[in-house]
Amino acid sequence: MNIKEQLLNLKPYQPGKPIEEVKREYGLDKIVKLASNENPYGCSEKAKEAVKNNIDSFAIYPDGYATELREKLAKHLGVDGTQLLFGNGSDDVIHIITTALLAPGKNTVMANPTFSQYKHNAVIEGAEVREVELIEGNHDLDGMLQQIDENTEIIWVCSPNNPTGVYVNSDKLHRFLKQVPEHVLIIMDEAYYEFAAKEQDYPNTVSLLNDYPNLLILRTFSKAYGLGGLRVGYAIGNSDFINKIEPVRQPFNSNRVGQIAASAALDDQDFIKAYVEKNKQGLQQFYKFCEEHKLSYYPSFGNFILINFEQSGDEVFHYLLERGFIVRSGNPLGFPNSVRITVGTEEQNRELIALLTEMLENQKN
Ligand SMILES: *Cc1c(COP(=O)(O)O)cnc(C)c1O
Repeated sequence: MNIKEQLLNLKPYQPGKPIEEVKREYGLDKIVKLASNENPYGCSEKAKEAVKNNIDSFAIYPDGYATELREKLAKHLGVDGTQLLFGNGSDDVIHIITTALLAPGKNTVMANPTFSQYKHNAVIEGAEVREVELIEGNHDLDGMLQQIDENTEIIWVCSPNNPTGVYVNSDKLHRFLKQVPEHVLIIMDEAYYEFAAKEQDYPNTVSLLNDYPNLLILRTFSKAYGLGGLRVGYAIGNSDFINKIEPVRQPFNSNRVGQIAASAALDDQDFIKAYVEKNKQGLQQFYKFCEEHKLSYYPSFGNFILINFEQSGDEVFHYLLERGFIVRSGNPLGFPNSVRITVGTEEQNRELIALLTEMLENQKN
């Protein structure tokens, strides 16, 4: 069999370690997972209730077009339903877009480090990947513009960026958008939108869609909404473009339970508001810890923080793992001396910080 040559060097996505596996491996009975930027408070009660009320519908295929969720979300965002494309998580949307646009001979421009799936999917399609180093955790938009040529199909902006938590502000984004040629699709991955949305200079990208038909925004129910297990992500863009790439989408790619839960979760904006506030306070716990120990970090506008421990991120990761906390080593994320920690509940943060403090104190002696 002739597997595409570019697959031979690709590794499957390395997810945060599953809780059950860590329990077994280390003989622990309490595990806290702060590795995948999941909502530590779970999801809205309204979403749970809606799923419970629909348990007799599981035999029936979902509405492939997600009509009900589509109408609700369109109204929530102030766009037309035809401007939305749903995916089995925004990972799936990334896959749909790369399948539709990339091929050998084409190229795509992105930051480095950033979310791994842009590159992964581009490599599968045999496209050239042009990576531009971050500057202080943020996109080097000018550097990225310089990489564009007539064969460039997609330019990716992850804002706030995973794993640094830094966003591209309004002014910078406007200047950038004006300079991207019309043949290039600009993807704004806003997986952490809800956490940054209230910042004064965080761009309102939905309002820019009319001016830039080549702009596409990605968002998800996996992070702030706490529905990562149900896999609902979506793109907001130009109706015409979305209609053209629609044939790539698997007919039932967003499932019945996910659609029901996401739809109900949208009705509970108080839940999101409360979580965003608690997340902000949680970040303060980590900032204080970093400042006390003179550790550098990026002020984060997501529900995670990347901390530079100036020692192997893998080792810090293992130290915490043995003590019941799963975090993400910065090593596979492009920051070998850092660790990315999802902000947990006040108590989880406190316990984790106590362990880290003990680790640092012991290293001093
Ligand atoms: C988590 C994440 C995604 C993927 O989210 P899903 O909707 O669960 O597939 C996409 N982009 C970024 C930057 C993320 O952090």
